[in-house]
Amino acid sequence: MKITVLGGGREVGRLGLFTEFERGTVLIDYGITPSNPPEYPLKSPPVSNAILTHAHLDHSGMFPWLCSRYHTRVFSTPVTAEIAELLYRDSLKIADSRGHPFPYGEPEIQLAMNKFAYVGEDEEMEIGELPVHFHSAGHIPGSLMAEFVDESAVCAFDINTTDTHLIRGVRPVKCDTLLVECTYAGVEHPERRELERQFLDEVDDIVKRGGKVIVPAFAVGRTQELALILHESGHEVWLDGMGHKITEIMLKYPQYLRYPEKLSRMFREVNVVYSNRGKKLALDAGIIVTTSGMMNGGPVLWYVNKIKHDPHSAVIITGYQVEGTNGRMLLENREIDLYGLKTEVDCQVKFYDFSAHAGHSELVQFIRACSPENVVIVHSDNPEAMAEELHSANVYIPSNGDTITI
Ligand SMILES: [Zn+2]
Ligand SMILES: [Zn+2]
Repeated sequence: MKITVLGGGREVGRLGLFTEFERGTVLIDYGITPSNPPEYPLKSPPVSNAILTHAHLDHSGMFPWLCSRYHTRVFSTPVTAEIAELLYRDSLKIADSRGHPFPYGEPEIQLAMNKFAYVGEDEEMEIGELPVHFHSAGHIPGSLMAEFVDESAVCAFDINTTDTHLIRGVRPVKCDTLLVECTYAGVEHPERRELERQFLDEVDDIVKRGGKVIVPAFAVGRTQELALILHESGHEVWLDGMGHKITEIMLKYPQYLRYPEKLSRMFREVNVVYSNRGKKLALDAGIIVTTSGMMNGGPVLWYVNKIKHDPHSAVIITGYQVEGTNGRMLLENREIDLYGLKTEVDCQVKFYDFSAHAGHSELVQFIRACSPENVVIVHSDNPEAMAEELHSANVYIPSNGDTITI
């Protein structure tokens, strides 16, 4: 097999792998990095078939461009397709509001959505001439690993080995060649149960002292996981932003959820902000899970503006914050860019690592359990930290634009 890396080589974001097998060619993921301005992958050659592993923009963001140009057929789960469509419209809106040129518009989105073909977990399917077996990736609902049966090659982007409230962790698949994300190479996650306990204790303390808790969270995956944890422990939770709509989509496909009835109860009982009046009610109540996850826009800024000088209140960040984002600035310098103005924030700022990616040791364990001869590391800014653990395999660390032959 021959793999050309269009994006995601030695970086986290804009993944795209143009992959040529003896019996056919397939593009695996084609995403953008949703930074300000967004970053795009290299241009894909014409291709008839593509696989989309999951809805996150760093994997899905360029499909409207691809499909409208080459009429590419895209294989994904239906929940991935429906969430991706929502994210495309949102990205377009954000690009318009910031005056950034964007590679596609509404007509391309509509055209792309007609090119999706649906697959399920634990399903085998012919893509062109290629038999592909799909497995759950354990990352977000509907996320898939693709196993190219003839070549004994598996693509694992993105994966989580830990069971969460939302879905079960990934299981290793024996293969000769493993293409794998290593977002957390060199970084260990805390033990999940202990982390949840500490997080809930912290929230209790803040609320008891009369403070407010603002939890910035990605709309896809993190919002549902955190709202479930808070709701199950008896807190009155408010959701603002796209997370509620995404939850509604996830509930249409209960087969991808670990506890659909729990998510459904949370969805019915959680409070949702629809207006400015709602924002005030949410703030009075005190616990708000809201977008955007890295605080570069969205309703979260309204809440942070309100509590920024209250020492009893806290912003609790729950995921990786990319360099240059408001979330990163808040963690490192206690300041954010608020509607164009650098603003000091002197409320409490906390960090809890609720990642949906496998951590370093989990990745090592997963890779070893797949027992591959060849490992291709992408979607990582520290691939060497993983490479040095994998003595018994040939390890490839391609950069963007590289073609490797295995
Ligand atoms: Zn992802
Ligand atoms: Zn990713």
